[in-house]
Amino acid sequence: MAKRAPIKTTIREAKEYWMQYIDECDLSVDWSEAESHCWRCGCERHLERCHIIPDSLGGKDEPANIVLLCKRCHKEGPNVSDPEIMWDWIKAYNVSLYNTFWVIQGMKEYEFIYKRSVQDELAYILEEAGYDEVHGGMEEVIKEVVRSAYQKASMHFGQPYFNTATMAGAYRMMLKELAEQYGVRFPEKKY
Ligand SMILES: [Zn+2]
Repeated sequence: MAKRAPIKTTIREAKEYWMQYIDECDLSVDWSEAESHCWRCGCERHLERCHIIPDSLGGKDEPANIVLLCKRCHKEGPNVSDPEIMWDWIKAYNVSLYNTFWVIQGMKEYEFIYKRSVQDELAYILEEAGYDEVHGGMEEVIKEVVRSAYQKASMHFGQPYFNTATMAGAYRMMLKELAEQYGVRFPEKKY
């Protein structure tokens, strides 16, 4: 494979170009932090300069064709000749708070697999356990579920993060454990 020439467009040039056209409300990052935080997930990471139209499809090394993504998002990003696709993808994933992106992705994966949200499952367990879900403390319980879920998960070799399936699985295990603690049957019989 031919070696690719190093990208000349700088991180700053890419940011300064795109901040003229893209509203930060559509992103997981504020423009003031867009030289250190990934434009898709908003995490503070080493940023890669990523072609919008890939080099192999004639994409140029110029600010208009570069976005800044972490390694993980770069790998997951689209590689197509229509430049709008990259922005459609980045914007569709926008979250409003830093450091919530991957937790939200894990929760979406959970819902995809189990057809109910983690919040709904939790509300069900607490209700069955006789807790008033309107009464405070729910947020804390959710946070605790998430915290201990991570202690029971491991990363794939060569993947320095929990992938979304692992996160979804960890949430499931925690919900089961919580239900057992409260003496609630979970998963409930659905049909
Ligand atoms: Zn990212």
